[in-house]
Amino acid sequence: MSVLFASSEIYPYAKSGGLADVADALPEALKKSINISRVMPLYSFMDVKKFKLYTSYSVKIATIVYDIEVFSLKKNEITSYFIKAPHLSTTEMMYGSKESDYENNDLRFALFSMAIVKLAQELDIKVLHLNDWHTALAALYVKEFALNIRVIFTIHNLAYQGLFAEHTLCKIGLNKKYFHLDALEFYNKVNFLKAGIAYSDVVTTVSPTYAKEILTREFGCGLDGFLNYHKEKLYGILNGINVTRFNASKDKMIVHNYDRNSLEKKHDNKIDFIQHSTLKDPRKPLFVMVARLVQQKGISLILDSFEELVSQNINLFILGEGDKTISQKFTMLALQHSNFEYFDGYDEALSHKTYAAADFVLIPSIFEPCGLTQLIAMEYGAIPIVHAVGGLKDSVYENGTLCGEGIVYENQNREEFLFAIQRALKLKKNGKKLKKKRVHNMGCDFSFTPSALEYLKLYKSEL
Ligand code: ADP
Repeated sequence: MSVLFASSEIYPYAKSGGLADVADALPEALKKSINISRVMPLYSFMDVKKFKLYTSYSVKIATIVYDIEVFSLKKNEITSYFIKAPHLSTTEMMYGSKESDYENNDLRFALFSMAIVKLAQELDIKVLHLNDWHTALAALYVKEFALNIRVIFTIHNLAYQGLFAEHTLCKIGLNKKYFHLDALEFYNKVNFLKAGIAYSDVVTTVSPTYAKEILTREFGCGLDGFLNYHKEKLYGILNGINVTRFNASKDKMIVHNYDRNSLEKKHDNKIDFIQHSTLKDPRKPLFVMVARLVQQKGISLILDSFEELVSQNINLFILGEGDKTISQKFTMLALQHSNFEYFDGYDEALSHKTYAAADFVLIPSIFEPCGLTQLIAMEYGAIPIVHAVGGLKDSVYENGTLCGEGIVYENQNREEFLFAIQRALKLKKNGKKLKKKRVHNMGCDFSFTPSALEYLKLYKSEL
């Protein structure tokens, strides 16, 4: 069986969040069982000299013919294809500037989707695995051209739907017949994500709890009714991580490698981290947060609880890029508090050093489809503190002996969050208990291997 996995970002070529990690880890976990390749856009910031020209063709969108070049690279036994297309490959960033998304994202990702389908035909692909709205139109094109390709569509975050004004229909040459409630229409706008839901054979999302949550008004982002209509083909499969890449005993990005039997070296990472930061005293518990700075990640709760949080005998470090007003606030707060440091930016190596140094990783998301940071944290022996939603609920437990020991609070409010911090501080004082939890988590399997089997069944239509 030949599978093509399509994503707008794949680590290490381009990454803005967890989607890129999944596009790295899932095909990696599947490669032994099936013939899987991947496709993503060739962005302007990528070095085309690293790739080989594989093929070229043209696609037609709204009477205009666009020339496409497809580059390829085989690495770790997986071939990745990179689509070079007008508009798609000429912007400076992937989706937009810090202020706003690119205005022509409709055309850019329609082109990408059309190019994916054409590539799938050239490669004689049997299963096309699409991810998020950037690839969703490919499901519609497969149906429109009546191709014999099974389509799986994964929603990584329902909050991002690819919404455009009605004139997008004309711009990307979509027949008006698709502009109705059961198809792409969404409050008079064109909704790309709906194409993925309506025209795929199977829809998945990234945790069992999120699969249930998105059927409710609270988490459905306006699509709960539509998803309920399609729920017979909806599955929730928990994400995993690439445990070769996120591996404390081999990670080249951290200073001291360690495993569950040499946790004292984790402490050496913390000492090194504190020395290279504005923070002082490595004996203080180190709380960290590594996240895109958007409200979803619980920024309001952090800000509401901030003064009380930093008044504890702790160090707090936040690594995050995103919303300008949020980063400005954190920058200000860091100037006022010597036990708080904020790094404004996206830095892969620093994120690994942060997980290796951390005692606790804060994940107070309002909603969280799956979340990978809690899995990475546990892989590095740091204890996650999470809000019990989505994939966080499916992977972190406070009481019991299951894999994934952490601190869990039920309701998104200051009192419960600060009480969770108190439980963390109590745990830090009990060195034996803390070590036991760290050792337990580091012996768990957070890889994609178990979930990859679920995807395999869906590819083979065994469910
Ligand atoms: P999301 O996909 O919503 O961003 P996830 O928890 O699924 O959240 O995945 C986030 C990924 O991005 C993790 O690998 C995390 O370490 C990484 N990450 C987030 N922000 C940064 C940053 N500023 N610098 C480096 N890595 C980051």
